[in-house]
Amino acid sequence: MKLLVIEDEVGILNMIRRGLEAANYDVDTAKDGNVGLEMACEHTYSLIILDLMLPGIDGWRICESLRARKSRVPILMLTARDTIQDKVRGLDTGADDYLAKPFDFQELLARVRALLRRDKMHKTRTIRVADLEIDTAQRRVTRGGVEIGLSHREYELLEALAAYESQVLTREAIQERIWMDEDSFSNTVDVYIGLLRKKIDAGHSVKLIQTVRGVGYTLRVPEAEDAF
Ligand code: CA
Repeated sequence: MKLLVIEDEVGILNMIRRGLEAANYDVDTAKDGNVGLEMACEHTYSLIILDLMLPGIDGWRICESLRARKSRVPILMLTARDTIQDKVRGLDTGADDYLAKPFDFQELLARVRALLRRDKMHKTRTIRVADLEIDTAQRRVTRGGVEIGLSHREYELLEALAAYESQVLTREAIQERIWMDEDSFSNTVDVYIGLLRKKIDAGHSVKLIQTVRGVGYTLRVPEAEDAF
């Protein structure tokens, strides 16, 4: 498995490279944003570890650029800036996880493993609920065979609901899973549920996104007693 590390601090770069190599990963490195992006576009990596503040273009733009090119490569962002805004911005640009410096290499390694596991699971799974199909490898969603375009966050939310297969997810659990911050944006989950409903359920007589009053949300075929 080949990983790319884009990091301009040589000490950190070497520490990560040596550690990953000791864990039997192949590692390519770049110390500059432009070079890193070019490498990420030209080669197929299993995962990218991406610093934010880089010479050339920064980590956010690299991430955005890769996602704009439909790259699904797992991205772990590294940064010295540990603010909620940075974290949210990183995840919003399409990063899969976020680690603040200084970090312990063992934690980085654990997160790399988790991301690779998740990616492998995604690559092998299609989730079906009634006529809704979620191809988690391609992050492609269809209902009744018609493709539905979802934003990054909308997709993450739908996949989280689907992953729990008809169990009820509380707003807090959704928020923690997708936004990773329980304190901010109290109505974000509801707003995104509304957006998802428009795309998934509008125009269909069977509504799959169910509100469980006072608890949260679930994705399932409604039972008779669920009907209003
Ligand atoms: Ca840096």
